[in-house]
Amino acid sequence: MTAIISVERLDKSFGTHAALREVGFEIASGEMVTLIGPSGSGKSTLLRHLIGLTRADRHSHSHVRVLDRDVQHGGRLLGASREQRCRAGYIFQQFNLVSRLSVMTNVLIGHLGGMPRWRSLAGRFTRQEHEAALHAMARVGIEELAEQRANTLSGGQMQRVAIARALVQDAEVILADEPIASLDPRSAREVMEILQRINREDGRTVVITLHQVDVARRYCQRAIALKKGRLYYDGPIAGLTDTRLQALYEDAGLDEL
Ligand code: ADP
Ligand code: MG
Repeated sequence: MTAIISVERLDKSFGTHAALREVGFEIASGEMVTLIGPSGSGKSTLLRHLIGLTRADRHSHSHVRVLDRDVQHGGRLLGASREQRCRAGYIFQQFNLVSRLSVMTNVLIGHLGGMPRWRSLAGRFTRQEHEAALHAMARVGIEELAEQRANTLSGGQMQRVAIARALVQDAEVILADEPIASLDPRSAREVMEILQRINREDGRTVVITLHQVDVARRYCQRAIALKKGRLYYDGPIAGLTDTRLQALYEDAGLDEL
């Protein structure tokens, strides 16, 4: 297997609290993997390490490689700028759109590979870039919303804007942190179907943290489970039996499922 994401011995502490301990796994190009575990188990912290938003512990043996490039090694972030490190598309529970800007502009920002520091984006983008943005919007079914301001959208629509932005960024790897947690069941299903389509049709790798195990079972073939910052399970989602799930959530209470 050629790994598109490789994590070795990842250690991260916040003060004396060990958020991640010796976490390691590899993900091959084209996989759709769910990252699950009780809240506080380290899922978001792990995803943030993959795009270099968070640095592993100093003097640790942590090594993270994404898309053939070292993101971090031994507690050092590699790559001069955040843009250089951040080659994966990142989708957040809280959408992370610029609320006063139009849907079109929010999608166009994907061409910049990250949030711009400039105040004005007017006239920054070429016709080709606009066309790519329209194409991405059509793929997620929001082309008619192009001129609408982001803060007038529903949660499901906002999440589709975020996905369109990742498509424009041409992210081979899409990392989504609880992308459906704030959505009603119907919007959640639509967002999951879009992510599944991007995975199947484009072969993009998708790593997604989910709360609902039934959703994970429906859309993902493989699960990586964290418990208290340690790797608890890594394998086919079918292998995450009810007994294993109970043990995974034993301290958190099964109502979290
Ligand atoms: P999950 O996404 O699985 O709910 P997180 O990765 O958010 O878990 O958090 C893992 C642990 O690390 C938790 O105990 C959390 O309180 C702690 N943590 C996360 N981010 C920070 C931070 N910036 N400062 C201090 N503690 C943090
Ligand atoms: Mg989280």
